[in-house]
Amino acid sequence: ASANIGVVGLAVMGSNLARNLASREGNTVAIFNRSYEKTQTLLDEHPEAGFVPAHTYQEFADSLQKPRTAIIMVKAGGPTDAVIDSLLEVFEPGDIIVDGGNAYFPDTIRREKAVRETGINFVGAGISGGEEGALHGPSIMPGGSDESWVTLGPILRSIAAVAPEDGEPCVTHVGHDGAGHFVKMVHNGIEYADMQLIAEAYDLIRRGTGKTPAEIADIFAEWNKGELESYLIEITAEVLRQIDASTGKPLVDVILDQAGAKGTGAWTVQTALSLGVPVSGIAEATFARSLSSHPEQREVARILPGPDEEFTVTDVDGFIEDVRRALYASKIVAYSQGFDEIRAGAVEYGWNIDLAAIAKIWRAGCIIRAQFLNRIADAYVENPDLPVLMTAPYFVDALTRGQAAWRRVVSTAAESGIPAPAFSSSLAYYDGIRADRLPASLIQGQRDFFGAHTYKRIDKPGTFHTLWSGDRTEIEAEDTH
Ligand code: NDP
Repeated sequence: ASANIGVVGLAVMGSNLARNLASREGNTVAIFNRSYEKTQTLLDEHPEAGFVPAHTYQEFADSLQKPRTAIIMVKAGGPTDAVIDSLLEVFEPGDIIVDGGNAYFPDTIRREKAVRETGINFVGAGISGGEEGALHGPSIMPGGSDESWVTLGPILRSIAAVAPEDGEPCVTHVGHDGAGHFVKMVHNGIEYADMQLIAEAYDLIRRGTGKTPAEIADIFAEWNKGELESYLIEITAEVLRQIDASTGKPLVDVILDQAGAKGTGAWTVQTALSLGVPVSGIAEATFARSLSSHPEQREVARILPGPDEEFTVTDVDGFIEDVRRALYASKIVAYSQGFDEIRAGAVEYGWNIDLAAIAKIWRAGCIIRAQFLNRIADAYVENPDLPVLMTAPYFVDALTRGQAAWRRVVSTAAESGIPAPAFSSSLAYYDGIRADRLPASLIQGQRDFFGAHTYKRIDKPGTFHTLWSGDRTEIEAEDTH
């Protein structure tokens, strides 16, 4: 046995991760793929990596030092289960199986439980950053047992991205069983919201001011020097500047306006719904993609009227600055909601998740990497139990500075007929959560009227019901609903 780490699944993600591992001091990497061609290709293309190839799972297990540690990078779902079953036949108690694919966290919880019964450790690890990240340094979100972290920690730290601010590797032991994949899921949900907000900002500026994509690229490049600095803002400028070779038009004008999705946004929203956490920014972003990808509905809906007045902005620079502030404020809301979901998930599933550490491991390697994550980390270092992220002093200050602009942009969007669902719903969330009193009292009254669902009062303890179909007196009721 000569390898200290193995990789199963050598498509683009697995082979890049294997190369990343092999490039780090002290690692010898065993590799295995269901069909040997991919193994051979990787060996031929990267002789410098010193890979230890295997034709069978048995050979793969024999090539690994104990405790054996293998990272699976195969198609999520059935293929992952098939590989786990094969590894269980050749691994021994104490060995570690890591699933680095995009698993749905309940699957990870199920697999961890089943594998643990054999005495083998199972770690679901969210890996973000795509192909480039896998090769040069991803952000890694591992779950699993403390015991497996002892062996796995140094290996993952050696390949993770490094935060530019303090040189810390972007990996932390997130929590037990499915915690890592849960956090990776929410990361992707936040990514949806962030992308949608940027797209709305672009649309408002384009349609409001008539600026060209190349001019808007310059605006985003400028924004990237300030508080919005992030990978997504940076690549937005690149995409907007790109000219299509065949038509000479801006590429953004020839790309079909139907957004795809692989499902992680929907998982984030479904999970939030069952946890009762309002992640409205992420939900709007997910729905905006769905709306875009129904051309047949959009075709017939063109008959619906918009506002009578043609929309033009008079103070162009002022409007652009308003959009920047609205974008930042909405982004704060989206992240606040995402972290709220992680907090609620941790409570529901019994994970001890350090939210500051999560913000820190997202600072490099992953798609939502941004300077702003330092502010989130600071907020949770200051108060690990912060109930609403955006109530940390730094964010209160940013929202105070941004809210007037945010309101102007949302009302301009509404008046001009430019859809800005994520901007608008973030503002509605902001106004909802800060309200002294909500019309939820009326909802409770309605529920009591048609379903005797009862209500509580502000002035005394207990649960009450009004006899709506009788004499409408109030009675004390059992708290059953
Ligand atoms: P794919 O998701 O395309 O999966 C292909 C690999 O799965 C091949 O190695 C294939 O082997 C193997 N495989 C498929 N079915 C089986 C099976 N029944 N038994 C054994 N092996 C099987 O590869 P990617 O590299 O694109 O992605 C790998 C994982 O990483 C996925 O879970 C994906 O969701 C995730 N991912 C993550 C990204 C990120 O940014 N974090 C980006 C892209 C992917 P064979 O060659 O024999 O067919």
